[in-house]
Amino acid sequence: MAENIINEPEESKGLNFVEQIVADDLKAGKNGGRLNTRFPPEPNGYLHIGHAKAICMDFGVAEKFGGTCNLRFDDTNPVKEDVEYVDSIREDIHWLGFDWGDREYYASDYFPQLYDLAIRLIKEGKAYVDDQSSEEIAAQKGTPTTPGVNSPYRDRSVEENLDLFTRMNAGEFPEGSHVLRAKIDMASSNMHFRDPIMYRIIHHPHHRTGTKWHVYPMYDFAHGQSDYFEGVTHSICTLEFVPHRPLYDYFVDELADETYRPRQIEFNRLNLTYTVMSKRKLLQLVKEGLVAGWDDPRMPTISGMRRRGFTPRSIRNFIDTIGYTKYEALNSVALLEYAVREDLNKIATRGMAVMDPVKVVITNYPEGETEMVEMENNPENPEEGTHSMPFGREIYIERDDFMENPPKKYFRLAPDAEVRLKGAYIVKCTGVKKDADGNIEEIYCTYDPDTRSGLPGSQRKVKGTLHWVAADTAVDATVRVYDRLFNVENPAAETERDFREMLNPDSLRVVEGVKVEPFIARNAVNGTKFQFQRIGYFTPDYDSTPEHLIFNRTIALKDSWEKVQKK
Ligand code: ATP
Ligand code: MG
Repeated sequence: MAENIINEPEESKGLNFVEQIVADDLKAGKNGGRLNTRFPPEPNGYLHIGHAKAICMDFGVAEKFGGTCNLRFDDTNPVKEDVEYVDSIREDIHWLGFDWGDREYYASDYFPQLYDLAIRLIKEGKAYVDDQSSEEIAAQKGTPTTPGVNSPYRDRSVEENLDLFTRMNAGEFPEGSHVLRAKIDMASSNMHFRDPIMYRIIHHPHHRTGTKWHVYPMYDFAHGQSDYFEGVTHSICTLEFVPHRPLYDYFVDELADETYRPRQIEFNRLNLTYTVMSKRKLLQLVKEGLVAGWDDPRMPTISGMRRRGFTPRSIRNFIDTIGYTKYEALNSVALLEYAVREDLNKIATRGMAVMDPVKVVITNYPEGETEMVEMENNPENPEEGTHSMPFGREIYIERDDFMENPPKKYFRLAPDAEVRLKGAYIVKCTGVKKDADGNIEEIYCTYDPDTRSGLPGSQRKVKGTLHWVAADTAVDATVRVYDRLFNVENPAAETERDFREMLNPDSLRVVEGVKVEPFIARNAVNGTKFQFQRIGYFTPDYDSTPEHLIFNRTIALKDSWEKVQKK
């Protein structure tokens, strides 16, 4: 048997339950020792973080055991599907770090084979055309505890069924007038076996096959067979498909022999707090303009997360952390954010920016003079070196880093108090200037030239260290600060309420007049990850231009939200 094992993973302990099944199948030499998975998105929306979990499983398990993973677009419903979605799905999978090589397939590629199978099943008396409406069919379905009722069309002759089905596909009948059903068992304890619908009539053109077809297969009549036609060995999906599995096997039985058959394995979905995963709801948010598009940085989509500044590694690490089980759970978005911070902390370039600036004049600093101070680009990785940052007589600090009447243990700037300006000097506050309403307009300080960073005098102990930028060289920027899209933990569970009522009205705050140091402005190109010191992680938005810098706040440095929630 051993020769059938294509690749045993290095640590065979620590396999998740799906990997264990795969390992056992390979060991047993099933399917000639082949491993082939697939990721089967329906191109009816953009991918979200839940899909990322499926992608990591489908591509991950193939990678781990030396198999292959197909990308199969499950394009069986032309009404909802679009090439825009196909393109975005490809881009997102690549961005996550996976590749399907030349194995890009479409369920629509199999329409001819599926149609042939349907004809065969009709000929064998295993399928029939039903003329009833979907309401009538549903009413006859029964309940899990009471059997269903046979359709009056169930015993049509093979000839009549063949004639009707061919004419359905020729476009002779309106939508909803006929369906093709499998003749199985209206009393089955599995509701999916109660003569499931195989084909329905749709007259909408298909994005790949145009107007060639007027009947389209249902998911249950397409998925298992597509797996089979493609040579898929392990068809990994989410738990809601458990009750479909017998039907999956039923149709696969019509095709497979003992040398090869695909098998379905189910794991738990990813559900995230403070958001929704339903593509239907996400589409509604987009269509109604409640967000700025599928890639709005508040969306749980891969493209939204990319735009917001999340990294593929942070998403993959998060998915590793939550793991794969056989029971549904709600995952805390705080765990995802933790993974994002962990990764950005390692890679983000440090710079200084002041979100809510107030001017500080250093009165004993020579007028008109500027000097450069050195700043570390990333203390987590000294190899990234330093950059220089201008210092001068006028600088900006955060408005809330100063208090006129501070409480005890306030270690930031206050009258007569000393603070360190990170990377520069120790300064002492000597006074303030206020406007007519008592708002602080300017803060006055003196600096101690002996405390320049690097000089022995800089060793002097002061409790507070502030970030700052030099006033005359600072560049103005707009910052988009994002918060949770919904203000309830699990919107999907609130079935009584319209999910749109639960949107967080403060999920986007636009901050104008943010002051960034010139180094940040120079390097603000798409994809750059910054840490604005003491504030958080930021990335230039797609809308950013050198003339008008726009940053997305990817995430705050610390999880302030959790604290607020606990109050
Ligand atoms: P719908 O069927 O309503 O259009 P879907 O989210 O199931 O939505 P698909 O395109 O069918 O969308 O999903 C492709 C694959 O991704 C499927 O195998 C599905 O099981 C998986 N998937 C979808 N949502 C999640 C999720 N939240 N967690 C894990 N896997 C998911
Ligand atoms: Mg689906």
